[in-house]
Amino acid sequence: MKYPEFAEHKIIQRICEPERQIIFRVPWQDDSGETHINRAFRVEFNSALGPYKGGMRFHPSVYLGIIKFLGFEQVFKNALTGLPIGGGKGGSDFDPKGRSDAEVMRFCQSLMTELYRHLGEYTDVPAGDIGVGQREIGYLFGQYKRVTNRYESGVLTGKGLNWGGSRARREATGYGTVFFVQEMLKARSDSLDGKTCIVSGSGNVAIYAMEKAMQLGAKVVACSDSGGIVVDKQGIDLDLIKQIKEVERRRISAYSEEKKDARYIEDGNIWHVPCEVALPCATENELTGNDAKKLVDQGCMAVAEGANMPTTPEGIRVFQDAGIAYGPGKAANAGGVATSALEMQQNASRDSWTFEYTEARLEEIMANIHLNCYETAREFGASGNYVVGANITGFLKVSKAMVAMGLI
Ligand code: NDP
Repeated sequence: MKYPEFAEHKIIQRICEPERQIIFRVPWQDDSGETHINRAFRVEFNSALGPYKGGMRFHPSVYLGIIKFLGFEQVFKNALTGLPIGGGKGGSDFDPKGRSDAEVMRFCQSLMTELYRHLGEYTDVPAGDIGVGQREIGYLFGQYKRVTNRYESGVLTGKGLNWGGSRARREATGYGTVFFVQEMLKARSDSLDGKTCIVSGSGNVAIYAMEKAMQLGAKVVACSDSGGIVVDKQGIDLDLIKQIKEVERRRISAYSEEKKDARYIEDGNIWHVPCEVALPCATENELTGNDAKKLVDQGCMAVAEGANMPTTPEGIRVFQDAGIAYGPGKAANAGGVATSALEMQQNASRDSWTFEYTEARLEEIMANIHLNCYETAREFGASGNYVVGANITGFLKVSKAMVAMGLI
């Protein structure tokens, strides 16, 4: 047995049990004065390496089980970054779609009026996730500041640039995922240049994955939202996507109204669009075994997950059996949380780095994550298997710290 101390200290049993789980009521009023009640969660999973760190998700599908699995995943992802952050996750079953700014603000204020007592720059530091972007982080931070009477910048990440945010944080998850693909391809003496690429989703992660893939010479031909997919053989017009999604907050179907050559397919399956590189950047379980077969059959050679656990276990098996490069989210999308930790560093030192410097740090972190996963997989007899590499690398880091800290 390689690490007998882990069994002796019951690491598996302890690591699977969150340190703390908070569930609370969030009452708020809509614009017409009607009262609504939502449920919110914060799972503080593991703080062996630093304060709990992980996003808040606002989506009607949110319940404790989703937050727990995301929190568990987050513990090892954060360990992989090599930065001093523990793991946590939170969210609410609130649906921000179709809500006015004032309604979103009242909801965020109500949520933070309870959550603030569990947070702190040395305790628990939430960020964004699905349905929680800079607007929501602003309302959450404002209410935290108001009820604590502290300008504690490091308590939330994903903030606006003129109030403590980090340059390149918005871009970090998507850019990081593409840096990871670049490293996987480099390990196979290949590159992204000239590759045809598809990206699911059109939210924060998807938009900046497309941007970096294009900068590195790839041609992105399809993206999606929960209503359908757009296919643009000429290459997706990213400025138009940003205008539709970031500015106007409309559906992706609007893309084909503006660009007549593009096709919108309602409820279409993006994984049926032929490509060499596929980047799932929308949500969990969006890529099934059959989707994976279709991708492999049509010549896909690399998959990296910008989203959390988008590929089902059957899908992962298909990729691994086919021997294509497959980067699990735990490693491939760790650039977001890594840059959140860089935001915390800037807040702690009351400093603000340039975009170029922050992006260079991100690129270096992603290259290190890739190298560690690659070498650990080889050490444990699973060369080229990034799932094994990422799981073992993250687990060893957290477990060794837990052993060192005794039975707590
Ligand atoms: P956004 O809310 O900005 O975007 C999510 C995108 O995915 C939207 O295009 C959305 O479409 C689509 N989507 C959501 N749910 C579904 C669904 N059930 N079926 C199909 N499409 C869906 O979120 P992010 O981009 O921030 O997050 C995307 C993924 O990346 C998530 O898995 C998240 O956990 C993960 N992640 C995010 C990080 C970050 O820094 N933001 C960091 C690491 C991981 P629609 O608008 O129609 O709902």
